[in-house]
Amino acid sequence: MSETVKYLLPEEKIPVSWYNIAADLPEPLAPVLHPGTGQPIGPDDLAPLFPMALIGQEVSAEREIEIPEPVRDVYRMWRPAPLYRARRLEQALDTPARVYYKYEGVSPAGSHKPNTAVAQAFYNREEGVTKISTETGAGQWGSSLAFAGALFGIDVSVFMVKVSFNQKPYRRAMMETYGARCVASPSEETESGRAVLAEHPDTPGSLGIAISEAVEVAAKNDDTKYSLGSVLNHVLLHQSVIGQEAIEQMAMADDYPDIVIGCAGGGSNFAGLAFPFIGAKLRGGTAVRAIAVEPAACPTLTRGKFAYDFGDTGHLTPLVRMHTLGSTFVPPGFHAGGLRYHGMAPLVSHLVELGEIEARAVHQNPCFAAGLEFARTEGIIPAPEATHAVRVTIDEALKCKEEGVSRTILFNLSGHGHFDMAAYDAYLSGNLEDKDYDHAELDSALAALPAVAAE
Ligand SMILES: *Cc1c(COP(=O)(O)O)cnc(C)c1O
Repeated sequence: MSETVKYLLPEEKIPVSWYNIAADLPEPLAPVLHPGTGQPIGPDDLAPLFPMALIGQEVSAEREIEIPEPVRDVYRMWRPAPLYRARRLEQALDTPARVYYKYEGVSPAGSHKPNTAVAQAFYNREEGVTKISTETGAGQWGSSLAFAGALFGIDVSVFMVKVSFNQKPYRRAMMETYGARCVASPSEETESGRAVLAEHPDTPGSLGIAISEAVEVAAKNDDTKYSLGSVLNHVLLHQSVIGQEAIEQMAMADDYPDIVIGCAGGGSNFAGLAFPFIGAKLRGGTAVRAIAVEPAACPTLTRGKFAYDFGDTGHLTPLVRMHTLGSTFVPPGFHAGGLRYHGMAPLVSHLVELGEIEARAVHQNPCFAAGLEFARTEGIIPAPEATHAVRVTIDEALKCKEEGVSRTILFNLSGHGHFDMAAYDAYLSGNLEDKDYDHAELDSALAALPAVAAE
């Protein structure tokens, strides 16, 4: 039997600053455009939605941005997060590869998302904001922001995609336990919600619609700001604590990854782990392959267009250049709710275009198979989203075996699956389908992308 090998950092090794990859990009990001004028937006355009400190981080080119002490103090509840060597998985696969994983499921909400929720709640409170509106798909982001809101005394309202609201009562109960209000979206509370309901009273809702509702509430109320749990530059910035800790922990193991892997919905946990490694490479350090894994039913990086698009269905957000399936695209049902977004973080998209990141799409049945193999060797039951990273990690480890070479593979175990056992239940009873998306619907969503002169 293999021994358990785990790398723990002392508390003082919680990073003192976030790492901003914008400082190391060989070419800068395309500007964010105003949806009305098509011109680059300025800080004032975003001020109704976000506190100024976060707007500053969104456009910053500083490599290191100091983490405020109150945020580090909350991080101390669960950080530094452990890094494990997956010896038992390696042994089961009979691979010469060395497999490591960084485990973000140790946070109170059970995923990486509190890393940014806590920072966002802090900056809002610093600027006197008392209410935040947001959206959530499967509920992980809503529960993370609810937790952060409770600590910093902010009222959190969550628009939760209706189908999840009905299917996942425990996530809703978790948000309410932390003191947040949770409403099924589309709702009667906003113009965007009422417009969708008038046309499609039985709609299951979507992330794009829920974003429109949350943005509308923030735009119309002076005391309310909006918060997003992925995609934006400042969110990826806050997640960089994951990779910075992992670099230290890999050094403790006297090893360095050849391959870094993460699942990608909006791109934040993948970037959180991968960007500090990619940045080191861009500054002349050791080469690393970074692989972003997405669901085959919502293939943003592998099938989407790299183009300007809206972040929401109601077209209230600015236009950002990213890989997108079109803001009206609704993916078919599958269980990794956190991977159902039509767009991808502009920073991740840009680095894919520059050849610094590879993208791969996988179906959910092979992902759950990998999740079971992981649970039965390493003990932790991965969130359905994280099984995508596990799948490609196992594939790469088996490739090492085939080729008779040893490589070091590091992946991000972004969260645990304790709230997703219905999904595992469906897999175990053989009731999980690998649905394809509607090709005609994707074509029409892509054909409807906004025309932008700057492209
Ligand atoms: C939300 C979520 C994701 C997907 O979001 P990213 O921004 O792409 O990281 C992945 N894993 C877990 C556990 C999540 O909660």
